[in-house]
Parts: sequence; structure tokens; C-alpha cells
Amino acid sequence: SHRVTLGPLVAAIDQGTSSTRFLVFNSKTAELLSHHQVELKQSFPKEGWVEEDPKEILQSVYECMERTCEKLTQLNIDISNIKAIGVTNQRETTLVWDKETGEPLYNAIVWLDLRTQSTVERLINKTPGRNKNHLKHKTGLPISTYFSAVKLRWLMDNVDEVHQAVVSHRAMFGTVDSWLIWCLTGGKSGGVHCTDVTNASRTMLFNIHTLDWDPELCKYFGIPMEILPRVRSSSEIYGLMKSGALSGIPISGCLGDQSAALVGQMCFQDGQAKNTYGTGCFLLRNTGAKPVMSDHGLLTTVAYQLGRDKPACYALEGSVAIAGAVVRWLRDNLGIIGSSEELEKLAASVGTSYGCYFVPAFSGLYAPYWEPSARGIICGLTQFTNKSHVAFAALEAVCFQTREILDAMNQDSGIPLTQLQVDGGMTSNKLLMQLQADILCIPVVKPSMPETTALGAAMAAGAAEGVSVWSLSPEDLSAVTSEKFEPQINPDESEFRYARWKRAVQKSMNWET
Ligand code: ADP
Repeated sequence: SHRVTLGPLVAAIDQGTSSTRFLVFNSKTAELLSHHQVELKQSFPKEGWVEEDPKEILQSVYECMERTCEKLTQLNIDISNIKAIGVTNQRETTLVWDKETGEPLYNAIVWLDLRTQSTVERLINKTPGRNKNHLKHKTGLPISTYFSAVKLRWLMDNVDEVHQAVVSHRAMFGTVDSWLIWCLTGGKSGGVHCTDVTNASRTMLFNIHTLDWDPELCKYFGIPMEILPRVRSSSEIYGLMKSGALSGIPISGCLGDQSAALVGQMCFQDGQAKNTYGTGCFLLRNTGAKPVMSDHGLLTTVAYQLGRDKPACYALEGSVAIAGAVVRWLRDNLGIIGSSEELEKLAASVGTSYGCYFVPAFSGLYAPYWEPSARGIICGLTQFTNKSHVAFAALEAVCFQTREILDAMNQDSGIPLTQLQVDGGMTSNKLLMQLQADILCIPVVKPSMPETTALGAAMAAGAAEGVSVWSLSPEDLSAVTSEKFEPQINPDESEFRYARWKRAVQKSMNWET
């Protein structure tokens, strides 16, 4: 049989909170040629704790790579056409490993984890005026359980192996990107210990203006700087794959997942925005070359830096902790659905929550509240309420949370978004997309190629290797097919429901005090 000729291919490792994927794209057309996905186990060893196994994460990456290469071979596509690999990852999730043995010294503490709540409260109480934004001028972030520094501090204080490794100069810290790149480029025999500016900007140890680790921040959290990875741009050659079918191929792109989605959605202009619906929900708006500080509870973050000599671009970000995670909770904890896909049918069967509101504040509330003591509530129940109404309320919760961050974004920028570009695993749910348009009162636009996060990482990797990936002009962009959901309900109805939601949010707060 004859080989298919396609020209250069680019690939991406997409290591998310709920699953790992490996995807291969045609660099000329952005067509997704093949991919493989593996769902990840999460463990909840105590209330509020969320962990993942670093070795399982790494194994899932190898498995996805091998299976994708097999599928390509079956399609008669020569894997030697893959010119570059990009990495995109769940952000903030914190790992420490031993550089001599290559072994992780504890599980990965996932971004959603709440074990540092009391540490965070103590840190905030020590600041002048009990100000959670005390470090925001440097980091763009409020002091919160969300970011890596407090998780790393917890590991050093509570895990003897970590403490010992730090003292004996054997410890390496990293977010998932660093762990993967180190392992894939050789691990204990010559692996490259690095991260990119986007991932670094989520640690709380990084100065987003100078684009460097900040000695004062490191001192504040008591973190020795020698355990930190080297910070690189989002698009340059970090190292070569050391083993497997793709051995020798450069790893040349690295972006936190939300940054990668911004790139994959081609939001390169000041003012362009996208919302990604995965485990959580993240709305990012490009603010160009300057970091803009929010007055409405949004984060300031590095959006991307596509090359060593290129300027960094910044974004305002609204982060929602629980979106798709509520669907997984309905499946795994309540058992009212057998799979994520069943949720849509269940909710559609009633088409209303019948006055039921579900605030899934499982990990406290992130933007715009930043309230770690909030806890989930389901309220407005009557004798009539059934599981379909709860399912509907769960979908609405995702939409209301997005409305809150969109409102904050519009207030901060003064220029309201006229439509919302979306992506992520949950966007396959059409009912959710229609509800979102109804609740925002603006159209919601979803690209027909949903893997924009992986696409962004593959684009960054290709660019570093001189493979320009479908450098689409604005005219070409209009040719990219998408699906548009127009608002269908009366704005008054929408406002009424949103006002009720806000009341439910107030009830979820200060739960523990
Ligand atoms: P992540 O990048 O955070 O791992 P993904 O973008 O892969 O997340 O999306 C997975 C999430 O989307 C899961 O939490 C899952 O419950 C949810 N999800 C997937 N399909 C659907 C669906 N049809 N309806 C609602 N939620 C869904």
C-alpha cells in the first residue's frame, strides 16, 4: 500500500486534569490526523484533598503516544513526518521528585486541592490590612490555595522525603510540564529541568513583569531557588525525546492549558477572548504587551511568549474551579448518570431546573470571590424536584459562573464582549452551549475542531522548528467552520434566574464560620 504524503506534522501532549491526550496535526491544514486519550485516576485521600500519581501521568503520556503512532501507521502515515512536539498541561498542580533516583517524592497535589486553606488564611491575616492581594503587584494573583507556592510549602513541611531531598540538594520542583519534559528528555540521565513563562506565572514565585523567579517571593514562601526549573519562552527547543517511537524529535512548545487554548483559538489581538469548559472553566482575554490589573477579582497572567526574542503577551483571566468536575461528581459520587454524555439527555428531559440552584463550591469559590471557605449547596428544593432538575441545575451552574466572570471582565475592560468563543470537553454538550448563550444574552461560538488546547501547543512547537502551522490570515479565519448558538430567551427571564443564582452563591459562602 502506498504512503500518504502530507508534509510536516506537528504533535501535542495535552495533559489535563481529567485525562491525557496525544494528538497529531497536519501543519498545512490544522487537520487532526489521529489521537489517543486516557482518563486519569484522581484520589481524594481526605476531604478537600485532590491528588494524582506522577508515574501514572507519565505512563498515560507514553501510552497515548504509542497508541497514536500505531493508529497513524494503520492510516499509512509515516510518523517520521512528525517534526515537533508541544506540551500543554493542567496548571499549578505541584510535584517534587528526586533528581538522582528520578522518583516522585509524593503524589502530585492537584490545583483544586484545599489542604493549604489554613496556611492561606494565616498568610492573609499576616498581611497589612488582611489583604489577599498583597502579592498581586508582582504575581497578578491573590494569595489562594490555587497556586503552586503554598502546595510546595506544604510538601516541604509535611513530607519527610521532600524535606530530606531539599536539604541534601536532590529535590526538583515542577508543575506537570516540567515533570513531563524532564522525564521525556532523559530523566535522571540528562533530563532538562525547565518550564515556560505561562506555567511559571501560576506558581506565585514568578514576577510577571521581569519574567523571572522572584527572590523576595521565594523568601516569603521559604522556597530555595535551586529547586526551581529554568524558565523559558513558550516556543523554543527544550530538548529531544529520549526514547520510544518518537525518539529524537524535539520538544519545542510549552504552554499551560488555558494559554494554549488562547493560542489555538487564534486570540492574538488585544481584546480577543475564549472560554474553556473542562474540569474547571477559564475565560481569558488577551490584553497585549501590558499586564492589566483587575479591580473585579480577575487574575493577571502571562498569556504566551512565542519565542525567546519575542515579547510576552498578557491576559486577564476569570477562573472557575468546578465546571466539568460537577458532571464527574454526579457520575461518581451520586451515580445519577452513567457517563458524562448522559447528563445532556437527563437535563433536556425536563428543560428547567424548576427553581433548583446548585452552587458547586467544592473547592471554595475562585473568581470573582476568592473565598476558600465556601462550600457546595443545592437549594430551592421541593417535593417535585428530581434528579433531572438537579442535572439541569448543574449545567446552569456552569453558565452562571461564566456569566459572573464575563461581567467582571466587561467591567474591567470597559468594552463588553459581543460574542464568546468557547472550547473544551464540556462544549460537546449542546444544551449547555444553548443555556450559556441564553444566560449571557450574547452568541456563543464553538469551532468545529474542538481540540484547540492541543492545537495551540502544536503551533508553538512547530513555530520553534520553523514549521509554521497554518498561519491563517484573518480572511482564512472566516473559513474556519464553527457552530453558533444565539440567545433564545427573554433577557428579563435570564436576569431573574441570574439574580436567584447570586442569592444561592451568598448562601454558599462563609459556610465554615
Ligand atoms: P480537562 O482538560 O480539565 O481534563 P476536558 O476539556 O477534557 O477537561 O473536559 C473533560 C470534562 O468535561 C470532564 O469533567 C467531563 O465530566 C466533562 N464533560 C465531557 N463531556 C461532557 C458532556 N457531554 N456533558 C457535560 N460534561 C461533559
